[in-house]
Amino acid sequence: MNLKRVILIALSLLCFTGSVYSKSEPVKVVVSSKILRIGDVLKVKVSSSSRVKKTSIGFTNRHFKLFKTHKKKERYVAYIAAARKIKAKTYPLKVYVTFKNGEKFEQTIPIKVVRPKFKEGKVSLSKKKNKLSKSNKRLVNEGQIISKAYKRKTYKRYFHGKFIRPAKGRISSEFGKVRVYNNSYRRSHAGVDIANKEGTLVGTSNGGMVVYSDFLPIHGHTVIVDHGRGIVSIYNHLSKRMVKKKERVKKGQPIGKIGQTGVATGPHLHWGISVQNVRIDPLYLTRVGL
Ligand SMILES: [Zn+2]
Repeated sequence: MNLKRVILIALSLLCFTGSVYSKSEPVKVVVSSKILRIGDVLKVKVSSSSRVKKTSIGFTNRHFKLFKTHKKKERYVAYIAAARKIKAKTYPLKVYVTFKNGEKFEQTIPIKVVRPKFKEGKVSLSKKKNKLSKSNKRLVNEGQIISKAYKRKTYKRYFHGKFIRPAKGRISSEFGKVRVYNNSYRRSHAGVDIANKEGTLVGTSNGGMVVYSDFLPIHGHTVIVDHGRGIVSIYNHLSKRMVKKKERVKKGQPIGKIGQTGVATGPHLHWGISVQNVRIDPLYLTRVGL
């Protein structure tokens, strides 16, 4: 056996073991932008002509799920966001694909994360509300309930078109605003507050499935809607809840009424949206369709 033949056999063996790492696989990755502002959403589309077994995205130390958008074709989409606490700099967005034949593909795209200038404001709470607001046990408990809903990665897409403002009223606190409570502790605002009279109707900002409807001591009467593909919205401090868990809701459908239940300084709706457990600016999705 000559050397040429040995090499040929070795090469063919390599191909059949399926453990070859290949960078030449036909995978197309498209990102909606290479700059990501904190609060905004990046859309990542991945397609391949080879049969895909597994996909995932790594970005800012988090894993993001890619959702298959076509039954027969290998087409995937993921919505990506940067958390409020991360530093403004360039982060690698890594796309991983494992093919049915065992081969692997990896592509890195640098994404520049930009931090907007968030406002700062003061909040005065009564002694009783401040005690409740600072209650670690309650915070952890309610945080767990909310993040469990925010971690949902539902394949089905319930949302269509742009999201809408869930209630009429004045924006009394923007996303990302740093609020100093009783001159002692600071918290960054995870959503948008819409102030209006108690009893003002609140509609869901897009189509979805109600995954939570209950009372929480800090967040008040709360409704959480899963819109699919990792997008979940929350409505807090309601005076009344009008939907039940597992109820399908259409965009704009009334789900409750504005109130000031839980820790609130006046009647308002706290409206939040999360993308794979990263809080984003809900108003962004009223301007940009996914
Ligand atoms: Zn709020």
